[in-house]
Amino acid sequence: MRMITFFLIGLTVHVVFFLSIFDIYFTSPLVHGMTPQSTPLAPPASRLVLIVADGLRADSLFTLLPNSSSRTPFLRTVIEEAGTWGVSHTRVPTESRPGHVALIAGFYEDVSAVAKGWKENPVEFDSVFNESRSTWCWGSPDILPMFAKGATGDHVHTHTYPAEEEDFASTDASRLDTWVFTQVKSFFQAAKTNSTLKATLLEDKNIFFLHLLGIDTNGHAHRPMSQEYLDNIALVDTGVAEVVSLMEDFFGHDGRTAYVFTSDHGMTNWGSHGAGHPSETLTPLVVWGAGVNKAQRVTEAQPYEDGYLKDWNLEHIRRADVNQADIAPLMASLLGLPIPVNSVGVMPLLYLNNSDQFKAESMYTNAIQVLEQFKMKMIQKKETTLPFLFTPFQLLTESKQAEFTHRARILIQLEKYNDAISLCQSLISLSLEGLVYYHTYDRFFLGCSVVLGFIGWTSYVILVILRTHASLIRHPNLAKQNPNQNLARFCVAVAVVITLFLLIQRSPITYYIYCLLPVPVWYSALKESGALSDLIRSAPSLPLWKCLGYFVLVAFGIELLVVSFFHRSMLTVGLAFLSLWPLLSGLFGKAKLRSLSWFLGCLCLAAFPLMPVVGREPNLHLVYEKCIIILSRSCGWKLLEMVARMYFFCSACAGLLTLFTSACYLWSSWRRTPLHTSDRRQFFSQMIHVAVCLYVPSLTHSSLQQKQGLPLLNQIISWSTLASSTFVPLLSSTRLFHRLLSIFLSLTSTYLLLSTGSEALFPPVLSWLMFVWINIEQEALLAQGDSRRQELSTIDFSANIDITKIRQLKLDDIRRSYFFVFFIITAFFGTGNIASINSFDPASIYCFLTVFNPFIMGGLMMWKVIIPFIIVMCTFETIQVATQLSSRSISSSWCKTMEAGWILAQGKSTRTQFVSIKLLITYLHRLFPLLFVLLLFCDLQYTDLPNKNPYFLCVLQH
Ligand SMILES: [Zn+2]
Ligand SMILES: [Zn+2]
Repeated sequence: MRMITFFLIGLTVHVVFFLSIFDIYFTSPLVHGMTPQSTPLAPPASRLVLIVADGLRADSLFTLLPNSSSRTPFLRTVIEEAGTWGVSHTRVPTESRPGHVALIAGFYEDVSAVAKGWKENPVEFDSVFNESRSTWCWGSPDILPMFAKGATGDHVHTHTYPAEEEDFASTDASRLDTWVFTQVKSFFQAAKTNSTLKATLLEDKNIFFLHLLGIDTNGHAHRPMSQEYLDNIALVDTGVAEVVSLMEDFFGHDGRTAYVFTSDHGMTNWGSHGAGHPSETLTPLVVWGAGVNKAQRVTEAQPYEDGYLKDWNLEHIRRADVNQADIAPLMASLLGLPIPVNSVGVMPLLYLNNSDQFKAESMYTNAIQVLEQFKMKMIQKKETTLPFLFTPFQLLTESKQAEFTHRARILIQLEKYNDAISLCQSLISLSLEGLVYYHTYDRFFLGCSVVLGFIGWTSYVILVILRTHASLIRHPNLAKQNPNQNLARFCVAVAVVITLFLLIQRSPITYYIYCLLPVPVWYSALKESGALSDLIRSAPSLPLWKCLGYFVLVAFGIELLVVSFFHRSMLTVGLAFLSLWPLLSGLFGKAKLRSLSWFLGCLCLAAFPLMPVVGREPNLHLVYEKCIIILSRSCGWKLLEMVARMYFFCSACAGLLTLFTSACYLWSSWRRTPLHTSDRRQFFSQMIHVAVCLYVPSLTHSSLQQKQGLPLLNQIISWSTLASSTFVPLLSSTRLFHRLLSIFLSLTSTYLLLSTGSEALFPPVLSWLMFVWINIEQEALLAQGDSRRQELSTIDFSANIDITKIRQLKLDDIRRSYFFVFFIITAFFGTGNIASINSFDPASIYCFLTVFNPFIMGGLMMWKVIIPFIIVMCTFETIQVATQLSSRSISSSWCKTMEAGWILAQGKSTRTQFVSIKLLITYLHRLFPLLFVLLLFCDLQYTDLPNKNPYFLCVLQH
């Protein structure tokens, strides 16, 4: 009964608090009920053509060919003569849907919108299309419907191809773009004879939207450096030129058409997007036509430090960078539409070719529109907050708002347009700041209650552990009935007060959960407080100085782990400290060889956090590919082969290391006790398997380089390796090192298939250190004079644990649990390959499949990430067994599991570069060390991650 309750409570607490991240940090920033604002002056354009080349990088468009001609002659001419250009900076997540929402509706969707689906609108929003008289769209069925759905009435007409066309394996994705251009041409052809359509087209405030998905698809399938991607850009350029001349002809060259060419996001060198790398966030923007400034020659240096101007040979032409959401008000202003009510964009005045009065008026409209949102947000917050608790945004109180708008109006009337513009700009930035202020108003309060709940839970777990597993002096059981009842009454009262408070504030349902959950948690913790008084009573018998020393060390170690979330190289520092442990603890004298291998193991592992993140900057694969091309031209076949082999040098080393260590181990254990025949057979076959897996990737990659596709035999071997790695270890004997070796061999063979470079060495080095750790812990036990020390090689996982032999907790267990947490984090950040699952290098799964399939790819990558974890988890379980601290004596191992899960979830988020999560981490940072100390204490007994997954349990015990 106890176990189930503990398990369920632990699970609920962790799930609720984990989900709270999304509720507190990723909420929709939108407000409703504002009045649309538009400029009273006549707009320069009657119609606007918006062309979005999905997944086009800024540099791919702007960079010239080696012969200094352009791949995109039409757009280059526009940049150099007819229009204004710049870089449009997108925000994370760099995905299609948020990108288009920023372009067309002018606001940045919260991150969770990505998870909530791509086609549906999680919330209603206003867009430029919605404000237009009519909009015609051509393109992908993933993007267009969301703007048609969001629009009132039926003035947004969409033309999409069937979804099946977007096949990543298709021979030529650029036909998606050809389809769009052909449709546009036939649409205007038809309009010539259809008089009603023609009349609608000749009206003002119309938008034509061309969504071109070919470049994105080609980038995913072939990477942005490929000929396919680059050819597709040239095709789009030709298409744009044709569409422009067609439209100009149709509208009789009336000079009333404005054109906007941009993209929703970029793409990394390895064909992915979603994160915040410059290759993903820098997109091109080219605007020309009615109301747009022509190219401005400049002679002096431009205020951009990034060096791109030189790379793109555009130093002589003025560059005007914008944020992606600024494009929405720009389009609205060109067409004279009201700015989308949820837009947070700031009018990019450098693009406008119009009178100063027009610019000032546009800016004024923009300011009022943003201010409206601020006011609405403020009213909402004021309504749901008790008056005495409400603190308004001081920089923009109601009197200041009125003063601002009044002054701006007067400045415009006095024709002091530049002053008016700068005043409006500061009003916009204040309003945006205020919007963030009110949007995050509850964050502190919610964060506090979540942290309170967590501290309650950890203290509860600590007290339970102390009560059941530490040899404390028990106080004779007093009549506890009475205080418990009082406590219960008190907690109910607190819960009622909280509920009433939330009820008055009209808070959302989820707030009740976050605020009420700490109450039962703290109730349980306080109920266990007897253990605390027991601890205080036992304090004189504890070695106080040692405790204090441990506390300081652990606090320092935790701070180090926290910093390692931000700087991976801190793990190296930590490992360097750990390497000295046998020396400092005096074990060195007793076990010289083991201490020395521990020292070396730590130092070898310390090298990994210093290496670049796998799949990131120096992309070995691309470098080698280039080398191969150059060499094959100059030096012929032999050198090429050598280079290709160098690429697999690391995996070869890893495989050989694995084979060597296992052979050594087998040889040494053979001398002591001869292996069972079945065991011997299994180990040999597993070693042969590793050797095969060593060869498969090199064969596959060379076959792919020669464009012969993925050999079927290799694919079969890869998939069967993956499948067998889950059950082959179960066949070996359950004797400690036999089982561990078997697990290690099967995991390594899978990891080898999934590696692209130096990270292949990570599992062998990690396993080596883990092996030494098991041995050295055994030494430590001996050094403490524990007579119950068991010979390691005789330990059997499946043996029944003698309950009488299980020892109580000791101070040394704090160190063990710290090591465990440290190694788990090292396993996670060591290779950094989980930096961001969505920007991994697809090359690492080429042995399994070559067709773009995000689900299978993601699954394989996850498995690759988990492999080092399994090694650490199995090691810790082994140490538990070997030091007779059974993790199964108390069945509440879940809490431990979840603590680690929580820590990991934190770490993973940091690396995905979602800015909001970074905020969360920074916020938690101060409380984190405290939390972590508490966590570590609970980790003492409950370090039983294998139990998280029945599979791990199974691997070790059966
Ligand atoms: Zn896209
Ligand atoms: Zn894409």
